[in-house]
Amino acid sequence: MREVNSMQALELRKGVWSKTTCAELPRPGPGESLVRVAYAGLCGTDLELSSGYYNFSGIPGHEFVGTVCDGPRAGMRVVADINIGCGSCWFCDSGQHRHCQLRSVIGIKNRSGAFAEYVSVPDQNLLAVPEKLSDELAVYAEPVAAALEVIEQVPEPRPAEVLVIGAGRLGMITGRVLASCGVRVKMLMRNPLRAQHLQNSDIEIVSSFDKGGHSWVVDCSGSKAGFMAALDATMPQGLLVLKSTVVNAGDADLSPIMVKELQVLGSRCGPMAKALSWLEAGHMHAPKAAVFPLGEFNAALQAATDPNYFKVLFRPAAVI
Ligand SMILES: [Zn+2]
Ligand SMILES: [Zn+2]
Repeated sequence: MREVNSMQALELRKGVWSKTTCAELPRPGPGESLVRVAYAGLCGTDLELSSGYYNFSGIPGHEFVGTVCDGPRAGMRVVADINIGCGSCWFCDSGQHRHCQLRSVIGIKNRSGAFAEYVSVPDQNLLAVPEKLSDELAVYAEPVAAALEVIEQVPEPRPAEVLVIGAGRLGMITGRVLASCGVRVKMLMRNPLRAQHLQNSDIEIVSSFDKGGHSWVVDCSGSKAGFMAALDATMPQGLLVLKSTVVNAGDADLSPIMVKELQVLGSRCGPMAKALSWLEAGHMHAPKAAVFPLGEFNAALQAATDPNYFKVLFRPAAVI
């Protein structure tokens, strides 16, 4: 039996980050497991949470890999499907639990996340990490799944070419996933420093786009400017996939959607098991990450703006 009842964690309250050494250890309910977090990725959604998205207050962190502490799965390396449905509504009954109106989402909505030494996860949401897949790569399962969702939503025959806007972490993963499925990928990149993260990929980096010249555009920018560029780039009757959260679209002019008769498709979480298979197949090598203990969250938040790093990871179990 563990004797400790507290743990280190990062908390977010009213947009302010802080680290605590005495967060209450999660108490797994029936059918849940306690997972010791090896790595947890900081992503755009976490930064949106700090600006009020979902009115979140608590421990964020939804991209993680760890090891189950107790029970029949003890010692198993795992990642998790982050959406937890109510289990009894129409969406849950039809296998669409991630659209359950009563869902909780690990580290995003009504549930503590993985910027902590431990996180509690329902067993049915756990996925075993294949033996040959390292923690350093498995931690990307959640964003890879989100990228694969685009492929799920745009079945073959799909357009031969796509323009990806937003060369951040999600954008680059989305570009790699689409390229691995045989799509010709152009990625709009304004900061050439980011190009280093796309070496050994089939992605063509472009610094401008043809207005109204792209039949398929995926917006991963998370910004109003990126969203407006995506609206501008999409060809009449083209397909615009919205992959990232733009909380403050504000007074954005949406008339191009109607004038150009665009198909606009929202895209969120995707298939985690397929993401593990995709990573295991070697489509992506462990990218250049900045790794921090929880206590160095200020430096981590700073590193998240540094284009030299592909990703910022926390290592909650590390000694501080
Ligand atoms: Zn994320
Ligand atoms: Zn439900």
